Amino acid sequence: MAISVFDLFSVGIGPSSSHTVGPMRAAGRFVDELVARGLLDEVADVRVDLFGSLAATGAGHGTMPAILLGLEGYRPETIETDDMERRLAAIRVEGKIQLAGRILLALTESDMVLHPLTQRGHHPNAMTVTAVAAGGEEVYHETYFSIGGGFVVTEAEATHRETGEPVGDSGFRSAADLLAVTERDRIAVSQAMMRLECATRTETEVRERLLHIRDVMVACQTKGMSRDGYLPGNLRVRRRAHDWFVRLAAEDPQRDPAFAEDWVNLVALAVNEENASGGRIVTAPTNGAAGIIPAVLYYALHYTRAGLTDPDAATIRFLLTAGAIGSLYKERASISGAEVGCQGEVGSAASMAAGALAEILGGTPQQVENAAEIAMEHSLGLTCDPIGGLVQIPCIERNAISAGKAINAARMALRGDGTHRVSLDEVIDTMWATGMDMSAKYKETSTGGLAVAVNVVEC
Ligand code: SF4
Repeated sequence: MAISVFDLFSVGIGPSSSHTVGPMRAAGRFVDELVARGLLDEVADVRVDLFGSLAATGAGHGTMPAILLGLEGYRPETIETDDMERRLAAIRVEGKIQLAGRILLALTESDMVLHPLTQRGHHPNAMTVTAVAAGGEEVYHETYFSIGGGFVVTEAEATHRETGEPVGDSGFRSAADLLAVTERDRIAVSQAMMRLECATRTETEVRERLLHIRDVMVACQTKGMSRDGYLPGNLRVRRRAHDWFVRLAAEDPQRDPAFAEDWVNLVALAVNEENASGGRIVTAPTNGAAGIIPAVLYYALHYTRAGLTDPDAATIRFLLTAGAIGSLYKERASISGAEVGCQGEVGSAASMAAGALAEILGGTPQQVENAAEIAMEHSLGLTCDPIGGLVQIPCIERNAISAGKAINAARMALRGDGTHRVSLDEVIDTMWATGMDMSAKYKETSTGGLAVAVNVVEC
């Protein structure tokens, strides 16, 4: 199956695609499996074991509440954030969940067993869910790996991913393949991606779904700009987007290009503040990096000729091009901070955004590839060290900085003719190799870097 643009851009909840969305999906898959096997009525107890990074930083990422809600049958795509708060408050008071919405079981966040130093082999984000009958015998168990961007695989699927054919088949497993297709058929990167999407749905459906993704992104940034106060958690991080929006709207009512960078920063901040507070978000391609693509899309729609002339058409081309580049990262490397550090999350998002903007600015496929390569080349080695395990510092500002980097990369690529020394494939492979060499301290465990340099006051 091809990696679709809708796998890379999916609607979910904050604060983390790998630690919130993925675990909720995994818990949902577990419940679906119990129902499909006719085992649900036998279940009297459920045990949840969290391993590696999920155990180390799950508390700051909302992993445990997400699993409880997933076991109840909620899904990240459709859950209303108000319902979420209401259900979690009830679970905390009663100490019970409704498995699949039907079976009342005693289970709370503190019942989950944490194994932060245990790696389950395939990926640092692992969880095992075990259903037990009234007599104590096991009914069913499964281990899931949350491999980044909200993607979840079982133990068997993870083995297949490593030893068999790649799980995804993007139709172009390398940037070289992608460029060959665009050259052979004289098409843009976005058109190559549209062809692949049309293998499973109509072009009209693809366009409508992409515009819906854009609408959710815009709703998220608008909400982020309207909310004041502090972000959740004991870091006491103040929301800045609302203040900035009020001041910027007064200073720049006409969207003067001189203020473009300020608006881009603002959009990234607003999206990531919403993410940090568990709001409705488009995973792009992860939640921690979810502000970069909306911020650069904002730039494309407000400060380029193509975007100002036909915003819907520009949005569709932008997201398809970003999706084509993102599928290469997913196929050849990783978009998981727990696997390769922040270079895989923020770096991949910046690379996707840079390539997409290059196409909107009129770049050739070679210039698109060059822009994507530049953005990743200068993200290599970026570590993941969120303070307190919260997707706030350095994540929120890093999105704004990286959106600016993506715009600069696109503009640099447009000044050249597309020829360059290091290919996108080489830089993707280097990102993966760097991630494999990186100490576990810098891979979403909050045991190195800023996470230990700054004291966090316990509540
Ligand atoms: S540092 Fe980067 S990879 Fe780590 S949580 Fe923050 S955004 Fe995600």
